[in-house]
Amino acid sequence: MREFKERIYNFCAGPAMLPTEVMKKASDEFLNYQGSGMSIMEVSHRGAIFEQVLDDSLNLLRELLSIPEDYEILFLSGGATLHFSAIPLNILKEGETADYAVTGLFAKKSFEEAQRFNPVKKIYDGSSHIFTEIPKLKDSDIHDDAVYLHITSNNTIYGCRYVEFPAVTKAPLIADMTSEILSRKIDVRRFAMIYAGAQKNIGPSGLSTVIIRKDLLGRSGRTIPMMLDYAVTAKNKSMYNTPPTYSIYIAKLIFEWIKSKGGVSTFEKLNEEKAKILYDFLDSSSLYVAPVKKADRSLMNVVFTLKDRSLEPKLLSQAEDAGLHGLEGHRTVGGFRASIYNSMPKEGIVALVEFLKEFEKKV
Ligand SMILES: *Cc1c(COP(=O)(O)O)cnc(C)c1O
Repeated sequence: MREFKERIYNFCAGPAMLPTEVMKKASDEFLNYQGSGMSIMEVSHRGAIFEQVLDDSLNLLRELLSIPEDYEILFLSGGATLHFSAIPLNILKEGETADYAVTGLFAKKSFEEAQRFNPVKKIYDGSSHIFTEIPKLKDSDIHDDAVYLHITSNNTIYGCRYVEFPAVTKAPLIADMTSEILSRKIDVRRFAMIYAGAQKNIGPSGLSTVIIRKDLLGRSGRTIPMMLDYAVTAKNKSMYNTPPTYSIYIAKLIFEWIKSKGGVSTFEKLNEEKAKILYDFLDSSSLYVAPVKKADRSLMNVVFTLKDRSLEPKLLSQAEDAGLHGLEGHRTVGGFRASIYNSMPKEGIVALVEFLKEFEKKV
């Protein structure tokens, strides 16, 4: 492993870099949380100190995304993948069906997992063009008996996203927003449920959050594991068992940080600017290729390859030496991917573009 004296720019898809300001604050409070003489990691989840952290986290998330009162916010352990199983089990009665749009690998996984429990249907599959674009789904694409339409709002691995969410009225939308939650403004009312694993835009891995319309809690009526049951989690204010307390604390710090910078709209603008700098450069170069259809490009995960693919290992190794970490594409696609979530400052993008320019000059 290379050694660095300072923090570097980490372009990993997740776990991803977190803001240095937040990490410093967590570090300052690590041994003695607000004069309690204990780490927040060491206090009871049922005590006043942690209860305040949990309340603050829930309230801040509600405020940042303008989540209406008829939606419940849940924190669970288990990552986004947990919800691939929990969604059909909580929402679909035995034998009921739902539609899934397969726009990438996580979308495929969510579909295949739901299939184990219910006869769900795939209404779109982007594998023929290696997931380089996003469909324009309409009501005519939706089956009459679909209880919901599941989408993955941003495709983390292949780097495309729904710039506009599907304008369907026939079935309510459920969205996996793991890799873009809090990066853009959303109208929560357009969704029956939104969920996200924390390690891209919220905090440490293992924590996930669910934003669900309250009337859907307990809809399936099925006997399902308590730990997967959203109604049980809601009734117990995300503390049916011991929640991932430290992760929820870090999430609170992230939410405070977003709020202190002006909220989600500030980051939406900044993320558009950041992605534009990088895509404009890639499009102007004769060495780099950004394969995703322009109109559907992700602002969070910028995927690119080299025209001469034999140069890719060299680029990767030089980038690592320059403190630009984690640029390798997903193991299933190769090439490169710069994950540029909220925590990646504009300076990181500028440094990356400078590096790519220099590399192009040299080869
Ligand atoms: C990372 C990711 C997941 C998987 O999250 P886990 O926390 O590992 O379960 C699921 N969906 C999307 C869109 C992701 O980006």
